[in-house]
Amino acid sequence: MKKTSIIAEYIWMDNVKPTAKLRSKSKIIPGPIKRVADIPLWSFDGSSTNQAEGNFSDCLLHPVYFVSDPVRGNSDILVMCEVLNSDGTSHPTNTRAVLKKVATKYQKQEPWFGFEQEYTLYCKNRPLGWPEYGFPHPQGRYYCGIGIDEVYGRPVTEDHLQSCLKAGIAVYGVNAEVMPSQWEFQLGPLPPLELADQLWLARWLLYRLGENHNVYAKLDPKPMPGDWNGAGGHTNFSTKAMRAKGGLKVIETACKKLGKFHKQHIAIYGADNDKRLIGQHETCSIHQFRYGVSDRGASIRIPAMTAHAKRGYLEDRRPAANADPYQVLTALLETTCGQGFDPKKYNWEPQVEI
Ligand code: ADP
Ligand code: MN
Ligand code: MN
Ligand code: MN
Repeated sequence: MKKTSIIAEYIWMDNVKPTAKLRSKSKIIPGPIKRVADIPLWSFDGSSTNQAEGNFSDCLLHPVYFVSDPVRGNSDILVMCEVLNSDGTSHPTNTRAVLKKVATKYQKQEPWFGFEQEYTLYCKNRPLGWPEYGFPHPQGRYYCGIGIDEVYGRPVTEDHLQSCLKAGIAVYGVNAEVMPSQWEFQLGPLPPLELADQLWLARWLLYRLGENHNVYAKLDPKPMPGDWNGAGGHTNFSTKAMRAKGGLKVIETACKKLGKFHKQHIAIYGADNDKRLIGQHETCSIHQFRYGVSDRGASIRIPAMTAHAKRGYLEDRRPAANADPYQVLTALLETTCGQGFDPKKYNWEPQVEI
């Protein structure tokens, strides 16, 4: 193939508290790119992202995963990066480096993850399509609705779906959610690092395409107080043993173990998740842990199909829409495949105290 210059969009997580957001900038590099190792290291001003002091401000961008850029097209690419200190060591905000180690440790158990990303589309300071005064019709008609009187923002979600597929992101499905202008896309099932990298890139695409449609997506777990559903990040999980004959027993053992580490998991399942996990609107209270077949009011749901087949996967319903998948997957792997998860081991600050 002819050598040309391409545009690489370097994407990374910042250190905004309490929830890291994405940053990105463009670099012109020789292409086309075939392997991630051929994408050059780059740097950025860490003092502008809360990742360094002004007098020692350089942080490094280490490319770790890439997909083709569906917005620019051509041979352009979107590049997920780990943030390194200027000496090449892993930055404290680099949660991906932790998941990478943990995923390698439990690779033999062949873990797969699927993530349900709920989000709310906003225009100005209101959810898209909500009246300037008062409220929309109460919930009940919007979930999987059709027609502009039922759902708001389909052109955005459709653009996002097509773009993700063009990029090679493993979208599983899309649906309109219970609260008007709330939507969901699902990814997976995939191995841990691929799933988490693709999720961050799919989030970036959602924000980027929102610019074209004059709307923005919020991952706030409880955007509207009152009788409106919150936004979750249900995390579906299985190992080879769970998917094999007799897997239901392995799933039940995992559920019992997850109950023992509930507080440790909740600590990193997203800021403001206490406003969402209130025992209403298809959630279990943040102060309880329950698992059950087909139970959407439980912390962990065992899908009916899994119970019938006596093998399959479990759904952790606790993570909030704004959770960092690198952290969530680390916790699930350490608790179910290993001895248990403790955020202190990685100096991860609690996002919610219970
Ligand atoms: P829900 O009924 O909870 O709304 P969805 O249909 O929205 O479920 O999402 C199902 C999720 O389960 C998808 O993200 C998919 O990738 C994931 N999934 C399916 N099979 C498996 C599996 N064997 N292991 C892990 N995740 C899985
Ligand atoms: Mn779903
Ligand atoms: Mn949902
Ligand atoms: Mn779900």
